[in-house]
Amino acid sequence: MHARTKALETLLVRLNSRFGERISTDPDELAKVSGDESGLPKGNPGAVVWPMATAEVALVAQEAQELGVGLVPRGAGTGKAGESIPLGGELVVDLSRMNKILELRPQDLYAVVQPGLITAELDKAAKEHGFMYPPDPASWESCSIGGNINTNAGGPRAVKYGVTQRYVWGLEVVLAGGKVLRTGRRSIKGVAGYDVTSFIVGSEGTLGLVTEATLHIIPAAPVVETAWLSFADPVTASRASEHIFAAGITPRMLELLDTTAMDVVRPKSAFRLPPAGAAILIECDGRDEGVMRDLERVCEIALARGATESAIAQNDRDREGMRRARRLVSGSLKEAYPYKISDDVAVPRSKMPDLLTRAQELGAPAGIKVAAYGHLGDGNVHINLLCKTADERELAKPVRQEVLRLAVSLGGTVTGEHGIGIAKRSELGFEQSRELIELQKRMKLAFDPGGIINPGKALPV
Ligand SMILES: Cc1cc2nc3c(=O)[nH]c(=O)nc-3n(C[C@H](O)[C@H](O)[C@H](O)COP(=O)(O)OP(=O)(O)OC[C@H]3O[C@@H](n4cnc5c(N)ncnc54)[C@H](O)[C@@H]3O)c2cc1C
Repeated sequence: MHARTKALETLLVRLNSRFGERISTDPDELAKVSGDESGLPKGNPGAVVWPMATAEVALVAQEAQELGVGLVPRGAGTGKAGESIPLGGELVVDLSRMNKILELRPQDLYAVVQPGLITAELDKAAKEHGFMYPPDPASWESCSIGGNINTNAGGPRAVKYGVTQRYVWGLEVVLAGGKVLRTGRRSIKGVAGYDVTSFIVGSEGTLGLVTEATLHIIPAAPVVETAWLSFADPVTASRASEHIFAAGITPRMLELLDTTAMDVVRPKSAFRLPPAGAAILIECDGRDEGVMRDLERVCEIALARGATESAIAQNDRDREGMRRARRLVSGSLKEAYPYKISDDVAVPRSKMPDLLTRAQELGAPAGIKVAAYGHLGDGNVHINLLCKTADERELAKPVRQEVLRLAVSLGGTVTGEHGIGIAKRSELGFEQSRELIELQKRMKLAFDPGGIINPGKALPV
């Protein structure tokens, strides 16, 4: 750990009377905010503060600016790209204690929430009124709204309902220096000025500290039906899924598991995963019995296009068993292959068979086994390079570069949902021109001329 700088020491003295026990340099507390779920090495926070109100965040930002101390906003720390890892002894601003739902207005289709709210809590509260908050990252029982906004998180339901950005109507943001900026609106429509709200969404905490969000909620579909489709291989599964969309059916979830993903999950799963080369977990939703008709049609199409088996959930227990099998994949693969490299590339849906086939081919010469699972329905599949040792991981690194380039060459992106963080700063250039990157650097400077908000993230250094 770095020695604390004089500037940070002075900042701590200045903030101490306001925050008391809510500011800390205790090594145990710092250890908790030094990393995330990316598997990247931990960083070195200089201190951590837990504000309870916008005014407190503004005070921190004002004093930090005066002293030139870097700030790292932090939600729940479930990020997968190192975006909340402090790199240079910064003050971590942990927003997890600002976690209230301030307003819930189904009649106006919005909720106003604080950033530390756990995502699933908002959906749960909306459900009591027959509404839903659609973005559902697989981590939604542990990640926060502030983190979702700053990574523009998606989830299984994105295939039908879209990602976080679609649901952010307005923000309150504390800027570098402590000014409080309000963006957006509480009306359904609004096109005044540049769309600054959307610019902040996905900015990885580099433009300011989000202290409040106005989020769109929608009437919940009361009927949900679920099926598990088995295939000989992922490419057949992928091609079959194209025919489902072509038939005019937009499922609310269409997730892929390849055979390796199923193998690691099988021992822990209450749902008995049929032996197969690949599987699709699919859900349709709506208001009435038409939903089951759609799902039956999905099964017919899949069977006509190469599925070897289809199983429709008969009750909520079956459904939850199938969903849980999908949720278990990430952790179970990590247990089996502790040094694995997991990426979140996205490609146009029709290019998915190319991605799946060529990713396997890229791994083969280095002896790296490749697993694929995730959001097949929106072309965002997690390509995992499976490594059991640190040496294997070194061998896999060049393969990963090739997988990222492959995704871009197919018209896609190096990151469909996790972001650039520090994990892909060099690889942003695979996808974006120098001019575009320079423009973004100038936009960052317009928000944060001193470069103190989450330094070293999202853009190449
Ligand atoms: C098992 C597992 C499954 C996952 N599944 C998905 C998935 O399906 N889809 C998906 O998109 N992601 C997924 N993720 C990744 C992760 O959960 C998301 O990126 C999530 O949005 C991060 O939220 P967080 O609260 O943990 O944010 P953090 O990790 O704390 O921070 C993420 C970024 O947001 C910034 N930030 C956080 N709060 C604020 C704030 N109030 N103001 C300004 N900046 C802020 C941080 O500085 C950082 O740049 C998964 C992660 C795990 C571990």
